[in-house]
Amino acid sequence: MELTYVPGIGPKRAEVLANELNLHSDEDLLTYFPYRYVDKSKIYKIKEINGDMPFILLRGQFTVFEEQGTGFKNMRYKGLFTDGTGIIECVWFQGIRYIKESVHKNQEYLLFGAPKYNDFSHSYSIAHPELESAEKNGVDVMQTLMGMYNTTEKMKRMYMNSKFMQRTILAYLQKNINPFPETLPAYIVDQMHLMNYNTAIRQIHFPANPDNLRKAQMRLKFEELFYLELYLMRSFKMRQQNIAGLLFPRIGDYFNNFYYKCLPFELTGAQKRVLKEIRADMGSGKQMNRLLQGDVGSGKTMVAILTMLMALDNGFQACIMAPTEILATQHYESISKMLEPIGVRVELLTGTTRKKKRDEIHAALEDGSLHVLVGTHALIEPDVKFRNLGIAIIDEQHRFGVEQRSKLWMKNVRPPHVLVMTATPIPRTLAMTVYGDLDVSVIDELPPGRKPIQTIHRWDQQREGLIRAMRGQLEQGRQIYVVYPLIEENQKLKYHDVERGFENMQAAFGPDYHVVMVHGKMKPKDKEAAMQRFVSGEAHILVATTVIEVGVNVPNASVMVIESAERFGLSQLHQLRGRVGRGADQSYCVLVTGYELSRDTRKRIDIMCETTDGFEIAEADLQLRGPGDMEGTQQSGLALDLHIASLAKDGQILQLARDCAKEIIDKDPMLEAQQNNILRNRLQVLFSKKVDWSRIS
Ligand code: ADP
Ligand code: MG
Repeated sequence: MELTYVPGIGPKRAEVLANELNLHSDEDLLTYFPYRYVDKSKIYKIKEINGDMPFILLRGQFTVFEEQGTGFKNMRYKGLFTDGTGIIECVWFQGIRYIKESVHKNQEYLLFGAPKYNDFSHSYSIAHPELESAEKNGVDVMQTLMGMYNTTEKMKRMYMNSKFMQRTILAYLQKNINPFPETLPAYIVDQMHLMNYNTAIRQIHFPANPDNLRKAQMRLKFEELFYLELYLMRSFKMRQQNIAGLLFPRIGDYFNNFYYKCLPFELTGAQKRVLKEIRADMGSGKQMNRLLQGDVGSGKTMVAILTMLMALDNGFQACIMAPTEILATQHYESISKMLEPIGVRVELLTGTTRKKKRDEIHAALEDGSLHVLVGTHALIEPDVKFRNLGIAIIDEQHRFGVEQRSKLWMKNVRPPHVLVMTATPIPRTLAMTVYGDLDVSVIDELPPGRKPIQTIHRWDQQREGLIRAMRGQLEQGRQIYVVYPLIEENQKLKYHDVERGFENMQAAFGPDYHVVMVHGKMKPKDKEAAMQRFVSGEAHILVATTVIEVGVNVPNASVMVIESAERFGLSQLHQLRGRVGRGADQSYCVLVTGYELSRDTRKRIDIMCETTDGFEIAEADLQLRGPGDMEGTQQSGLALDLHIASLAKDGQILQLARDCAKEIIDKDPMLEAQQNNILRNRLQVLFSKKVDWSRIS
């Protein structure tokens, strides 16, 4: 049913609901779940407020309102709220006109919000509280747990607030007394001991008690994640069945000569295990589509090299694509040094490769005399044609999207095997969904002899001590990175900070040590030259913006100083820190911040100082930021529009849902069994709008 025909809505409000919340039908309305529940049985006193209360309910009156600031941007509206035990300040930055019109002095309100402590004034305040008149507390159902619905400013201006949503949904539920049909097969509901759909959908909006609410949430979260996993697994199965892969049965001279005669070190157990997984894929006749996850410095490059040799041994070519010119060049140098002695021809192709060289490379690719091509995205240009590409390796995946991966596929008549390597630790829960269509291998072990990096937090004001410590390291022959965040102002990137930092470093170390700078505004040639000086050891200090974030390998660099560390996200800090600790020396990471840190920033800094485990950090990052911000999710091609489940919090339910989906798909890949009719139809409804990435990712 269209929303406009739902009692209490009508055409005008239906339009607002469509535009603001993307709700179009009665079913959309029913699955617009409360984002939070207020325990109405507990009303706090203002004097009871202390530091660790997320959201609370208060009851009282406003005594004073005041408008501050001028101009659209700086305007704020303040009100003092009291319940007789104390006073708390409320503040609004937006929707001020609506608040002025609808909220009045000396009337009793129920106020709901998150108190925040202000160090400056030593008092609490609540920004944008939710308010409801205490007199006409009008839903005629006895409840202690009340659902709160997200609404927008525009909706609030039309009096379509949380209360309105609640009333409308209640009226709809009371009118439709027949049970809503089940959306999961009975055997799953039984097996998983789930609440039935009809009860769950009613209880999620109007829970009779906390236990029912928990069961309703469990049922609906499970269902949501289950269908997501079922969809991913079916796509995965279909791809496996439809696409024949190149068969690489042989391990031959290239591999053996290199492995037994040239390998500069013993592989770690994790590297060996991953190679076995890759070998099994490429020997199976299926097309490999594998994600290789390994923390920075875990030795992914060597796995890539050995994988390429397997292709070469079977008469195929290989390519490896890196996101930046610096990285591609570094790969080219180390790979050619290792492979040329065993007769493998390696070339480098980037945006700056000269025409003559490029023509030469094109020709050698087509006649097959070139075995391994290393490069940037220049590799996927249409005029780059291989004679027979067997494996495409993509390094540092999050810089490339699905679309680029698909272009690599087209480089051969039969799609080549694809290995995607990433150092961004992806929490298991996220990998399961975002990369649900890729097989995942993990290198979870660092090469031996690495000392864990020591991470230290320093305030801006402790700079003198920091400079002394840096000098100590330089005197021991070490090199140092100093990194600045890129600051965006009015859509322009500002380079003042890094430039000033460069001058400061020159002033502090100038005559004795060589300082270079790299940032995004410099010409590629100059950037390259500065970087090269640091890599060769000629320069001792590299002052840079985050361009060095990914992949650069300078084992002699043992100190990473991160300026304005509060401006970086956790995974970025971790990536940056991964630039040091690559040699045998004790390495340090120094996080420099100003004095005023928010609670979340404080947490980020603490986590960095406590652990170097990339997966632990990724989990923490997911908790702090939510999955929407995670690097990688945007490019996955999968819209993660979850209504109720959270990847950050519902890892266990996700695992259950995944196991359940896997069991079903293994038994009935096309969902043809009678008992799975519901599943097939439901997938159609839920995912018909989505692009079918499974064919190309
Ligand atoms: P990443 O996974 O970050 O790409 P690299 O492949 O650059 O890591 O490897 C980091 C460093 O560790 C390199 O200097 C590499 O030569 C070295 N390395 C890799 N594997 C081993 C190993 N098994 N034993 C010792 N050193 C290794
Ligand atoms: Mg690497």
